[in-house]
Amino acid sequence: MDCGHPSCEVTQVDDIEVVACRVLGTLGWFRYGRTLASDVAVRLLFGDFDLVAELEAVSAPGRSALVYRPGSRRGRRSLACLPPGRWWRASPDLWLCRDRGLLLVSTPVRVAVGAG
Ligand SMILES: [Zn+2]
Repeated sequence: MDCGHPSCEVTQVDDIEVVACRVLGTLGWFRYGRTLASDVAVRLLFGDFDLVAELEAVSAPGRSALVYRPGSRRGRRSLACLPPGRWWRASPDLWLCRDRGLLLVSTPVRVAVGAG
């Protein structure tokens, strides 16, 4: 499953396939050959992350960015599905970014993807 661009990156995390489209800047989620809703995928991949900080006025698509730390080894593997160095749009209201070993989440509306 990919969007047809040669530069898109496909990562498998357990049974979830993540397609990062470098052309569109978007993420696609698939499981068992079907599209997986973003909110479901984000909870499955990053649901056990711990909120460690909120950053204001960074180069985020939203007003601020929530910083999450992986809560497990699996969480660290989940992070690998986000190619580093840019923000990825997971859904119209949800942007994700990997910064070193941390997950940055930015959204115009305030949501939490993990505990804490
Ligand atoms: Zn693409």
